[in-house]
Amino acid sequence: AVPAAQADVASSIELRNVGKAFGSGVNAFVALKGVTADIRTNEFFTLLGPSGCGKTTLLRLIAGFEAPSSGEILLEGRDIANLAPYRRPVNTVFQSYALFPHMTVSENVAFGLQMLKRPRDEVAATVEEMLRLVRMEAMKDRKTSEISGGQQQRVALARALAPKPKVLLLDEPLSALDLKLRKEMQVELKRLQTETGITFVFVTHDQEEALTMSDRVAVMSQGDILQIGSPREIYNHPTHRFVADFIGDINFLKGSVSRCGETECVADIAGVGPIRFDRAPGTSEGQPLTLAIRPERITLGPPTGDLTGRLENVVYHGTDTIYHFTLGDGSRMRARAQNSDGHEPAWRPGDRIGWSARPDAVAVIAEDS
Ligand code: ATP
Repeated sequence: AVPAAQADVASSIELRNVGKAFGSGVNAFVALKGVTADIRTNEFFTLLGPSGCGKTTLLRLIAGFEAPSSGEILLEGRDIANLAPYRRPVNTVFQSYALFPHMTVSENVAFGLQMLKRPRDEVAATVEEMLRLVRMEAMKDRKTSEISGGQQQRVALARALAPKPKVLLLDEPLSALDLKLRKEMQVELKRLQTETGITFVFVTHDQEEALTMSDRVAVMSQGDILQIGSPREIYNHPTHRFVADFIGDINFLKGSVSRCGETECVADIAGVGPIRFDRAPGTSEGQPLTLAIRPERITLGPPTGDLTGRLENVVYHGTDTIYHFTLGDGSRMRARAQNSDGHEPAWRPGDRIGWSARPDAVAVIAEDS
């Protein structure tokens, strides 16, 4: 009943069981196994995964550079299978920028609009608007061969945004920049997405980049999307071992559920002790599972409780310290503590210590592949 509110939650892109195989017969290689996802209008959506998992392939299917072998891609509810790439309201920013070196910054940004035969004064106004958006007005008359990598990146973004596409696809656009510039551009990209309201589909293999910029992240492995969620969901509640491991440091413990109350369960792990965790839907007594705990969610203390270990190594990192310790069953664990006010506990390798984690800090990995 409220169209404006509906528009906010509507799907921009729906991927329905999208598969892609290259080659045929015994030589066929399945790059995408049938992925399903709903990318919402105005969201910063990231495809995250290691090299070769199919991120670029998925982006190319959305852009229309390749056709899917199976499944459907809908744009705002319409099947776009038969729409040529240039007719899709979708634009791409490539890793290599692909600017014309002999043209000026302005000419590069104007190029796509001229191809679309937009009126002259509209082109001039849009170029000015886009250069202001990416903060490159001062360099509008420079050749793109005469500006820095970070500046080229801004021009490439301005050029891709100029036709005001509904969706912008970005294939590792920051990977050619040095670390400091990359961090700056992460903030810039997020600002551009918020200011333009365009749906961004961003590809990266860098987990930190994905966590800092995205509204939601799809974690991919071997042609599959394993989990889709907000950065916090993916980080705090990974559902797959691969996701937990790919995103930051984490400890795994294998065991089985010994008892469950209404909101909490306990896993008794031989040689380790009882570990309490928030009851996940479908958890039942006797069920084997893997528990995952981030090092910063582990609290160390004196060895007086159920859970103890022996400290192996203490590694100082400035803002925090990593404590490596072993459990009774031989598993190795890591705990990370902040060195607030320069304070560090006085434990030394060889000490017996106690450890604990709040039940909400323990993730349950259902599928342990
Ligand atoms: P990267 O981060 O290295 O770019 P990616 O996740 O983007 O990796 P894709 O480029 O989508 O991965 O490739 C997925 C798989 O499909 C790879 O194993 C790749 O070799 C294969 N592949 C991609 N394009 C083709 C093609 N045209 N013909 C055959 N195989 C291909």
